[in-house]
Amino acid sequence: MNAPSLSPAPAAADTPLLALSGVGRDFDSGGQRVAILKDIHLEIRAGEMLAIIGPSGSGKSTLMNLIGCLDQPSHGSYRVQGRETREMSADELARLRREHFGFVFQRYQLLAGLSARENVEIPAIYAGAPDHARHERAAHLLRRLGLEERLEHYPSQLSGGQQQRVSIARALMNGGSVILADEPTGALDSHTSEEVMRILQELNAAGHTVILVTHDAKVAAHAQRIVEISDGCITADRPNEHAPAPVAARERDTPPARNGTGAGMGAAFMQLREAARMALHALAAHRMRSLLTMLGIIIGIVSVVLVNALGEGSKQKILANLSSMGTNTISVYPGKGFGDRNSSAITTLNVSDMRAIAAQPYVDSVSPQIQSSVVLRMGNIERTAQISGVGEQYFRVQGYELAEGIGFDAESVRTLALDAVIDDKTRAALFAAHENPLGKIILLGSVPARIIGVTAPKENNFGPPSQNLTIWLPYSTVMGRLTGSQTLQNITVRIRDSAAPSLAEEQITALLKQRHGTQDFFTFNSDSVRNMVEQTTLVMRLFISSIAIISLIVGGIGVMNIMLVSVTERTPEIGIRMAVGARQADIMQQFLIEAVLVCLLGGLLGIALALLLGQVIQQFLSGDFQIVFSSAAIVLAVSCSTLIGLAFGFWPARNAARLNPVEALANQ
Ligand code: ADP
Ligand code: MG
Repeated sequence: MNAPSLSPAPAAADTPLLALSGVGRDFDSGGQRVAILKDIHLEIRAGEMLAIIGPSGSGKSTLMNLIGCLDQPSHGSYRVQGRETREMSADELARLRREHFGFVFQRYQLLAGLSARENVEIPAIYAGAPDHARHERAAHLLRRLGLEERLEHYPSQLSGGQQQRVSIARALMNGGSVILADEPTGALDSHTSEEVMRILQELNAAGHTVILVTHDAKVAAHAQRIVEISDGCITADRPNEHAPAPVAARERDTPPARNGTGAGMGAAFMQLREAARMALHALAAHRMRSLLTMLGIIIGIVSVVLVNALGEGSKQKILANLSSMGTNTISVYPGKGFGDRNSSAITTLNVSDMRAIAAQPYVDSVSPQIQSSVVLRMGNIERTAQISGVGEQYFRVQGYELAEGIGFDAESVRTLALDAVIDDKTRAALFAAHENPLGKIILLGSVPARIIGVTAPKENNFGPPSQNLTIWLPYSTVMGRLTGSQTLQNITVRIRDSAAPSLAEEQITALLKQRHGTQDFFTFNSDSVRNMVEQTTLVMRLFISSIAIISLIVGGIGVMNIMLVSVTERTPEIGIRMAVGARQADIMQQFLIEAVLVCLLGGLLGIALALLLGQVIQQFLSGDFQIVFSSAAIVLAVSCSTLIGLAFGFWPARNAARLNPVEALANQ
C-alpha cells in the first residue's frame, strides 16, 4: 500500500490536510447578496472518512465545491496542505483538482459520447499520461470495480450503479488521494447504494481521504466522522460511535507516471490529438449542422480557387496570343492613334526615319511596312492579295519562320529586286502541295515577281483566322515599282533583349519628334499590351476574390454562431472537464480545434468541389483554353480557412474557457 500522495509534510505533522477557517460563501440572488455558507471552521486530516450531512438546500454542495477547489470562498481562508488557495492561480487550482481530488457526483456526470474506458481516461489526458499507461490503468480500475465486461459500453448502456462505478474509477484515475462524493447514492436503489458505499469504505481503508455529502443519515453512518450542517452553519462535528467495522483495504494502486504540469512536447501533441478526436466526435454527432455551417466556407473557397484558376487560364491564353505578335516590339504609326482618320494624310514617316531608328544602340532590328492590295495572277488563277513592302529584317522583327527558300536581303532592297516571299495561304492558293513554288513567276497587277521563299504558318489567335493572301516584297520595290508612294505605313522596331521596352519607346518618340518637329505619330508597344492584360486580369481577380472573401467572412460568422451554440450545449461537459482538472487553456484549445476543423474540412471540401467544377467547365470550353489551378491559390484557401477558424472560433472558445466550473456543472 502506498502512502497517500496528499499527506502531511513530515516537518509539520499536525498540519491538517484541508483546513477551512472562517469561510463564507455569498451568492447574488435577485439582486441581493445571500450568505449561503457562514463562518465555516473545518479541519480534515489525511485518511479520514467524513460525512457532511444536512437537509436539502443547507449548503452541502456549496461546501463540497469549495473543498474541491471548483469554487472559491467569498471570505475566510482555505488551505490545502498548509497552502492558501486564495493565492493560487487558476492553473494551480486546476492542478490540485487534477492530481489530488477526485469527484463523484450524484448524477455521475459521464460524457455520453465516450465509452466507459474513455470517460475514465479523461483526467489522465489532462495530466499528460502516455497512451499505453492510460489505457492500461483505466481498464485495470474498471476491472477492479467489476466492470471488466463493460469497458467499451457507453453511459446510456450502463445501469446507474455501473455508471457510478465508472465515475469512481475516473476519480481514481490520477490517484484521487481525496475523494469528494456529493450524494453519490442519491440516484441509486438501496442495494446498489450499499455497493457504492462499500467501495468508498474500501478506498478509505486503502488510504484515500473520503469526504461524503448526503442528506441520508443511513449513508452518513458509513463514515467515521459526521459533520452536520444547517442553513450554512456547522451545527455538529462528532465521531460516529456506530461506525461500521473496518473493511478490508482495497489494494491501492499507483497512478501512471505523469508529466506533472501536463506540459512538454509529447504531452502537448497527445492533448492536441485527443482534442482533435473529440472535435471529430462532436462534428460527427451533428453532421447536417456541421455541413450547413461549412457551406459558407465551401462557397467562399470554391470561388477563390475557381476564379483564380479561370483568371490564370485566361491570362496565359492572352499572353500566348500576344507572344505570337512578336516579343519586345515597338511599332510607330502616323497619326494620333488607331482609328485616326487623318493619319493617311500624314506623309512624314519615311525611310530616313527608319534608318535613324536602326542606328540606335538599343535596337535589334527594324522594318518598315507599306501595304497595298493587288490582283495576283498565275496561269489562269486570279486572286486579290495583300502586298506588304518590308525591309530585310522584317521576318526577324515579326518572328516569322521561312518554311521554304530564303527571305530577301539588303541587296534586294537596294536594287528594288522583284523578289517575293509568299505566305502559306498564297502557296496553297497557287500550288499543289507537291509542287515547288520557288523560282516561279507571279504577276502582281502587271508587275512580274519571282518567288524566293514561303513562310511557315504563324499562329494568330486574335479573331477568326484570316483568309487574306499575303505577299512580301522589298519596301523599295513596292515604293518604286508598284505604288510610287514614299510614305511608310509603319515602322516596327525590335528592341534588344537587354533593353527596357518603355525606355526605348520614350527614346524613339523623342528621336522622331525631333526629326518631324512635331508629334504626328504614335507608338504601340507589345509589352504595354501584356502589362495591360496582366493588370486587367489582376483587377478582375481581386474584385471577384473580394466577393469570395465576403462569403468567407459570412461563413466564419456561421462558424462562430454554431460554436457559441456548441459551447452552450456542452456547458456540462466543460464543467466535468474542469472538475477533473482541465485548465482554461485545455478547454480553449479544444473548442478552437473544433472551429478550425470545421473550417478546414469546409476548405478541403471547397477545394475538391472547385477541382471538380474546373473539370466540368473545361469540358464546355474550347479545347485550347486551359483552367490553371495554382497551388498558391490552394495553399491560400487552406490557410484562409484555418485562419477563419482561429479568428471566429476564438471568442466562443474563450467563453467556454472562462466558464465557472460550478455553474457549468449545475447547468443541465
Ligand atoms: P445542498 O445542501 O442541497 O447541496 P446547495 O449547496 O446546493 O445545497 O445550495 C445551498 C443554497 O445555495 C440553495 O438555496 C441554493 O439555491 C443556493 N445556491 C447554490 N448555488 C448558487 C448559485 N450559484 N447562485 C445562487 N444561489 C445558489
Ligand atoms: Mg447538493
